[in-house]
Amino acid sequence: MKTVYLFHTGGTISMKEDEKTGAVQPDSTNPLISKPLQLNRMVNVIAEQVFHLPSPHMTQNEMLILMNTINEKINEVPIDGVVITHGTDTLEETAYFLDLTINTDIPIVLTGAMRSSNEIGSDGPYNLISALKVASSEDAKGKGVLVVMNDEIHTAENVTKTHTSNVATFQSPQYGPIGLVTKRGVFFHHTPTVRDNYPIQQLSKQVMLLKAYAGMDEHIFNALDKMPLNGLVIEALGQGNLPPKTVPALQKLIYKGIPIVLVSRCFNGIVQDVYGYEGGGKQLKELGVIFSNGLNGPKARLKLLVALEVTTDYNQLQEMFAR
Ligand code: ASP
Repeated sequence: MKTVYLFHTGGTISMKEDEKTGAVQPDSTNPLISKPLQLNRMVNVIAEQVFHLPSPHMTQNEMLILMNTINEKINEVPIDGVVITHGTDTLEETAYFLDLTINTDIPIVLTGAMRSSNEIGSDGPYNLISALKVASSEDAKGKGVLVVMNDEIHTAENVTKTHTSNVATFQSPQYGPIGLVTKRGVFFHHTPTVRDNYPIQQLSKQVMLLKAYAGMDEHIFNALDKMPLNGLVIEALGQGNLPPKTVPALQKLIYKGIPIVLVSRCFNGIVQDVYGYEGGGKQLKELGVIFSNGLNGPKARLKLLVALEVTTDYNQLQEMFAR
């Protein structure tokens, strides 16, 4: 029988709805711990609670602790897979961070729930069983960190939360899931072609994320200039363009040596230096803005945070974001 380590971190999957107020919140004890599922027929599960947090309370520090906990376990005992339960709000960020930083071929699978443990139609137990099936599947090896929800298997790199409340919230825009889970098994129909890995020991840099909008000007960039800042990600317009009034302020940050990574606020496609007008992609590229390869803003922020632990060299950073 396969052995899977199950790390609980919190989220709706381990919360309860208060019958009087209707508020969904963490209970004093995690219901996933006190009411174990009938899983042991399928796989030998060793469970541990790392955190009991709503996922908006996750920070890069918790992500680093989780990375270290997983690395320690996979180096110390022979295990076949890892499952992490997590709140869905920031699940894609933790999943992508672990994908970038843990170097292993064993399946690491994140799951969560949109309905808490005592609600009708609670999706947590089902998602957890699906995640355990994937984590113990031979076919899931070497595919990077995966997210399993609602019968679908997604890559950490492409998956994103697309709906505030629907159980089918997790989607991989443009790419789709790479596999599915059924009552009979786990089926993959795609394999990721690129895997990016940067083992790191710490996260010591300050990287922020801004979203562009029509009429954006220099003010927010000037405010950032007064703060401790090691890198900046901007969700630009369309194919990678910014309003013209942002350009001089952006230029100032670049001259100070702050790497600026551009992604698009469109959720399909990649940014490119296509447009030649003021603030267009061509001008931004010439200024030294780094164009990313289709990651969304929060994931590009994590990648820059990790990349800056490896190098501050502009060409190397550009290469990392071209992958
Ligand atoms: N707000 C919750 C969280 O992210 C949502 C969830 O888990 O589904 O912790």
